[in-house]
Amino acid sequence: MKTVGFAAYDPKKPLAPYTFERRGLRDNDVAMEILYCGVCHSDLHTARNDWGWSYYPIVPGHEIVGRVTSIGKGVTRYKLGDHVAVGCMVDSCQECDQCKKGEEQLCREGNTGTYAGYDRFTKEPTQGGYSKHLVVREEFCLRMPEGLDLAKAAPLLCAGITTWSPLKTWNVKPGSRVGVIGLGGLGHMAVKLAVGLGADVTVVSRSNAKEADALELGAGRLLVSADSDAMAQAHDHFDLIIDTVPVRHDITPYLPLLDVDGTLVLVGQVGPMEEFNTVPLLLGRRRVAGSPIGGIRETQEMLDFCAEKNILPDCEMIRMDEINEAFERMEKADVRYRFVIDMASLAAPATV
Ligand SMILES: [Zn+2]
Ligand SMILES: [Zn+2]
Repeated sequence: MKTVGFAAYDPKKPLAPYTFERRGLRDNDVAMEILYCGVCHSDLHTARNDWGWSYYPIVPGHEIVGRVTSIGKGVTRYKLGDHVAVGCMVDSCQECDQCKKGEEQLCREGNTGTYAGYDRFTKEPTQGGYSKHLVVREEFCLRMPEGLDLAKAAPLLCAGITTWSPLKTWNVKPGSRVGVIGLGGLGHMAVKLAVGLGADVTVVSRSNAKEADALELGAGRLLVSADSDAMAQAHDHFDLIIDTVPVRHDITPYLPLLDVDGTLVLVGQVGPMEEFNTVPLLLGRRRVAGSPIGGIRETQEMLDFCAEKNILPDCEMIRMDEINEAFERMEKADVRYRFVIDMASLAAPATV
């Protein structure tokens, strides 16, 4: 199937139109027309090869909402016209202990990325959601629940699940004390989801510039990390801190904020971090952890939870041809809080 998208052709050049082939349907495949695609920081890092594993051309995008246009003959869960979604992975071995537990993101053989991955059968590079069509095996296709705003829901597929999974892993429930560091695409979802689970949520930020935003998102308060008195008063306060800061930084000042056995979980920065002091870690039996996206079952659970509680990301809709400007604005953190591409702005190729 011929389709169109926007691809990076080079780490330094702007994204530009790209015509390419999606694979023919296998028995367990679902084909969809993409309606909306969120714009994640990983898209930008991949377009620029910041992590060293990009190929070119590469079509980013892993916050995908679409409508089923055809199905393979073995597909049982979806039918034509269903609203569906795809997140950060499109395949895994399905056999290992992690896959069997529904933790495909931790597959022993590695999951297959929606982009910057290689098809398990053909070894062809995968291409993401900045495109008109997608083909995916049904096990990695999510169902969009009735009533969830399709245009705004796209960022749930990465920003949503990336923050939902640690909230569930560390058993956040009514009364849990949760801190969120950084108030961008991931951070604003961490606040909304933790509030939805009944937690008492504090945003930790360098200044009080985002205080009104934090409160509006449902946080109980904003803690200014530059205010040493306020930080000292908040010692031993949190059961869980979700650190969404997407760049190298020092976590030492945040560790004393954790209660005994509390965990600071990193979900933003991929790569080296500043050295940190182990004293507060050892003395409080505190933990530092990382967490990557979440499994398929957990992602469906998160979508259903968001539909039930009417939790949606705050989005700014853009056209496909505005993506380069959106990348520039994202680098300056000039977005509240996620760009979503309206794929109706991209014309389908004449041959489809
Ligand atoms: Zn992402
Ligand atoms: Zn596996």
